[in-house]
Order: sequence, then structure tokens, then C-alpha cells
Amino acid sequence: MITTKSFEEKAAGYLERGELQIVQVNMGNLCNQDCLHCHVGGSPRGTRNMDFKTAETIISFLRNNPGLTLDITGGAPELNPNFRHLVMAAMPFAGSIMVRSNLTVMLEPGQEDLPGFLADHRVKIIASLPCYTKVNVDGQRGTGTFEKSIRVLRILNRSGYGRKNGLIIDLVYNPGGGFLPGEQKELEMAYKDKLKSDFGITFNNLLTITNAPIGRFGRQLKEENKLNDYLDLLDENFNRLTLPNIMCRSLISVDYRGVIYDCDFNQVLGLGLKDKEGHPIPISSISAKKLVGQKILTDTHCFSCTAGSGSSCGGALT
Ligand code: SF4
Ligand code: SF4
Repeated sequence: MITTKSFEEKAAGYLERGELQIVQVNMGNLCNQDCLHCHVGGSPRGTRNMDFKTAETIISFLRNNPGLTLDITGGAPELNPNFRHLVMAAMPFAGSIMVRSNLTVMLEPGQEDLPGFLADHRVKIIASLPCYTKVNVDGQRGTGTFEKSIRVLRILNRSGYGRKNGLIIDLVYNPGGGFLPGEQKELEMAYKDKLKSDFGITFNNLLTITNAPIGRFGRQLKEENKLNDYLDLLDENFNRLTLPNIMCRSLISVDYRGVIYDCDFNQVLGLGLKDKEGHPIPISSISAKKLVGQKILTDTHCFSCTAGSGSSCGGALT
């Protein structure tokens, strides 16, 4: 039976922050989709949305700590009225900017110019596409999602994404249940072959991500009485070689209120960084330097980052 303590023991020596490289900003849980596996509870009913003032505190942080990667996520962050302002205002200070997109948002009313906006500002796109088959994508993300995603990928290819020497678009695979992803490079080859031959679509890299046993996926495992089996699977496949690269060593996650966490998963669990008085820490009160050496907060879900080839927002770790 795995416990928080067993993760801390196994990961000893690696649970301190190194140099900050990525600021991952979750703009809220408003989303045009309502996926089965969603760990942030995104849906069209999402009400937690970052306001202008909070977006400004993130821009200030980037201005004061130049050269960091800004990684924007949600929900569907593009639906937040402050999304485009954040991108434009952060551009002079961020080393690079990426958005985690569900693709289908680009077909929503009022978002017709989104591919052009992203291309004009050279925003890297990390796009969810959990399979190259309709049945698996629609099963996980809702009927019609596959067809819409393919339409948008074609639009993005025409806008210069995923082409030789063009703008970067990476696709994200996550398993459709309680099992580990296959080998990233092999899966990437299969995706590239299939998407090119069936639809003429090209992209840059495939990132494999292991499902964390939290949010809707965690609840589903519990309902099916499979949670312990999944946790055991993660533990049995613990891989020490992933530890130097776990993302919390070089990333902070910021929620829609501007409060910081070690990662998006900890954010969902409310496991936030605290000051000496035990208060949540807003991004407005820290600097990148202050974070170095701080202890990372962990729990049993952390085993999803260290199983097999490892997992992070940038894909496999080894
Ligand atoms: S997984 Fe992504 S696209 Fe699906 S509901 Fe959650 S935030 Fe939206
Ligand atoms: S879940 Fe978050 S805190 Fe835990 S190991 Fe993964 S990145 Fe680090």
C-alpha cells in the first residue's frame, strides 16, 4: 500500500526546488468540453476564471524575472477574456510562451481568429489528442471531438504550425484508463504515420502523460473500485531515473487567484505553498530566486510522475 511517506522516502534528495524555468498559469476551469478524465474539473459550467488584476500580477512577475517560459493552461484558457492580454503583455519578458489547447475551442463562436493570433505571436501549442482514432478520442473527450480536432489541426497546419521550420505544435497522449502510456517515441511514430496518411496532418512531437489518480479520473477509479490497483501499478513501476527531471523542481503552477503550487496536480488538490504563518503564497509576493531550495509538497498522486518512463507537462522524463 503506497503512502505519502513512501513517496518521500523513495524520492529523498530530489524534493527541493532547483532553478525556476517555467511558470504554468491556470486561467480557470471554464472549458467548452467536459472530458471524462479531466483532473481540473473543466466544463462549460466552470466559474473559476482569472481576472485582469491577477493576470497583471503574473505579467509583473515575468517582468521582474525575465526569460522564463510562460505555460498557459485551464480549462480552455483561450476562453478567458484576459488570455490574449496575458500573451501580448508577457511577450517582451517571457523566454517563450505556450498554450495548452483542447483544439476544439478554436471552432467556438468568436474564436475564428485564434489560430492567426497564436501564429502571429509565435505561441507554441500543446494540444490534447489522446489517440489517432475517432472511437478512443470521442470516448474520452465527447462525441464529435475527433472530427473537430482534425479540422482544427488542418487549420493550424495551414497557419504554419507543425510544418518544416514552422511554428511548434506538440500533441499530448494520455491513456484511456488505468494503465501506463506506451513508449513515447514509438507512439509518436504511429501518430505521425496515421495522421499523415489519413488526414495529411503533420505535427512536431508527441508527449505522453500518465493520468494522475485525482479529479474525475480519480473518482472514476474509486467508483469502479480500481484506485488501489492503479496506485499499486504506479508504485510497482517506480523509476528512480525520473527523479532529477520531475517538473516541480523547475516549475511553479499559479491558480486563477494568483496563488502558487508546486504543480497543477497539487493545485487541484489544494496542496499549496505556504508562508511561515501558514498562509497561501501569491505570485505577487515571491521572486524566482526565493523559490530555490524550498521543499516540494507531495502525496500519493506523485507516483504518477515517476512510473515507467515518467510523466510531466513536457511528456516522458527518461
Ligand atoms: S481535459 Fe481539458 S478539454 Fe477536457 S474538460 Fe478538462 S480542461 Fe477541458
Ligand atoms: S505530482 Fe507534482 S509535486 Fe508530485 S512529483 Fe509530480 S510534479 Fe512533483
